[in-house]
Amino acid sequence: MILIGLTGGIGSGKSTVSSLLAKHGAVIIDADAITRELQAPGAPLLTVLAERFGAHILDTEGGLIREELAKIAFSDPDALKDLNKIVHPAVAKEMDRRMTEVRDTDKVVVLDIPLLAENPRKGLCGVVVVDVPVDVAVSRLTEFRGMKEDDARSRIAKQASREERLKIADQVIDNSGDLSTLSTQVDAVWAWAAQLPPAVHDAGSREGDESATDKS
Ligand code: ADP
Repeated sequence: MILIGLTGGIGSGKSTVSSLLAKHGAVIIDADAITRELQAPGAPLLTVLAERFGAHILDTEGGLIREELAKIAFSDPDALKDLNKIVHPAVAKEMDRRMTEVRDTDKVVVLDIPLLAENPRKGLCGVVVVDVPVDVAVSRLTEFRGMKEDDARSRIAKQASREERLKIADQVIDNSGDLSTLSTQVDAVWAWAAQLPPAVHDAGSREGDESATDKS
């Protein structure tokens, strides 16, 4: 496999880029989507979360009440640490499982990770950063995703800065233009990705996380 890291701040257009790459034939491994799947009603991880944080974080159908969990996690640093300790390894394991499935193919595999600059990965063949000015991200988040401006700005402020993200980029997609300009840039990134040398054996695990390497 050719393993690419894809990142961008909230509202940059990362998900849009991810779908365009999928249309070219990339296998997308999306950290946020996996996190949501692992927390779907009835998922085993919810039992673990309820044991640590209390049954009141679940509704009567066994679904996660995200606001209840967020209230606890963001008011108590130990709770946040425990939450991360429960969720992160589960997500990492599932990402690893999906990478293992395609590791020996010639596919282009895209690890779609919002916080890649904050949590680097080993052995990526290349990193693609989707970049937009903060004001553009805010206006798209308010216009298309129904977010309040304050909320959008405070979420952006909690993530890595544009400069920090650009430092890890091999390819930068400037998404300040229209969707057709974006699509042309994605075509170019696809052509670039397709000619990269394949990933080494333990590529994709988190830097500093020896337990997450592929032992197969
Ligand atoms: P992210 O995944 O980085 O948070 P999205 O891909 O969801 O961002 O994009 C945020 C919003 O902006 C979405 O509604 C998306 O359809 C829209 N969008 C993305 N790129 C463009 C663009 N170039 N022009 C107009 N709207 C865009």
